[in-house]
Amino acid sequence: MSDDSLGLYIHIPFCKSKCPYCGFYSLESDEEIKELYIQKVCSEIRKWGNILNKPVDTIYFGGGTPSLLKSDKIVDILRSVNESFRIIDPEITMEVNPADYKSVDFKKLKFAGVNRISIGVQSLDDNELKILGRRHNANDVFSTYECVKKSGISNISVDFIVGAPGQRFESLDKIVDFCGENNVSHVSIYLLKVEENTPYYYNKSSLNFLSDDMCSDFYLYISDKMEYIGYNHYEISNFAVSGKESKHNLKYWNLEDYLGIGPSSHSLIKNERFYYESNIHEFNDKGRIIREGVGGTEEEYIMLKLRLSEGIKFNQYEKKFGRSFPKIYFEKISKYETLGLVKFNINVIKLTKKGFLLSNKIISDLII
Ligand code: SF4
Repeated sequence: MSDDSLGLYIHIPFCKSKCPYCGFYSLESDEEIKELYIQKVCSEIRKWGNILNKPVDTIYFGGGTPSLLKSDKIVDILRSVNESFRIIDPEITMEVNPADYKSVDFKKLKFAGVNRISIGVQSLDDNELKILGRRHNANDVFSTYECVKKSGISNISVDFIVGAPGQRFESLDKIVDFCGENNVSHVSIYLLKVEENTPYYYNKSSLNFLSDDMCSDFYLYISDKMEYIGYNHYEISNFAVSGKESKHNLKYWNLEDYLGIGPSSHSLIKNERFYYESNIHEFNDKGRIIREGVGGTEEEYIMLKLRLSEGIKFNQYEKKFGRSFPKIYFEKISKYETLGLVKFNINVIKLTKKGFLLSNKIISDLII
């Protein structure tokens, strides 16, 4: 991976229905709006290709639901990227909803360069999937996985949610068994977060949510099991077979340059942060970007690096900021070391697995 390379995120903001916990920007839409959107995405790609003289080495189609687009449209977008940027040995990922597997032409996508599929599984328990408001069932997951493999795309990531209302340990075992038996390359496990202004948020009291302690137990249980069967727990929510860590997402955590295209997409280029407004009509019409300010600061570095199991390596910190890791942080962190939440020595500081669970608290304590 070159220091000068760029990760490209392309947001596909369409969903067939809204999951009751989701706070992402996405909407139901007709074909006309989708077509306009794709044209605008391609023209923004060409615009940025002219502005930025950087090679692209990761491309990520996220959403929303990229698999709601016809595969030809993904190919059209990739063609624009190829015409606008120099592409170097890229990791090209597309998120797929298992409910859409029959309409996705995985072979066509592979031919166009897609070499990594991220399947939004969330759960392998049909009751949980219903409660989570998902459009698919467990059999759709198995069929999606088979179709992707048959297409020749072997780098497959699967996403799961821990902490769904009423979830039980057995459901976690199903996840671990599925990953182990299929030798899945990459697994993301997210603790359910109820976003404000969502149906889950308003109906919190009537849903059988797990307590925080239960969620923590579930997280530690599944993390241990995943490591036991050979996965590297390389980031708070992410596990990978060796060498299959997400190159694209590592750019976010390593503060490398990335460009996000589409409403609500964020970018970091040459230490400047900016984003597009969360409004598809504004994007299709003008596509204004809003500047957020300076990025890549020491605080951001600490916040993001502590998400990774490798933590903050002091020699790298010194190389990046031209000064040694400030002593004040050691003073602040020593109480967490006593509690077994942080480990440090003369080379590195990192969170333990229990520390991962309290990362927000520890990190905000450190940098505020
Ligand atoms: S969770 Fe995913 S599929 Fe569900 S509404 Fe949000 S973006 Fe759409």
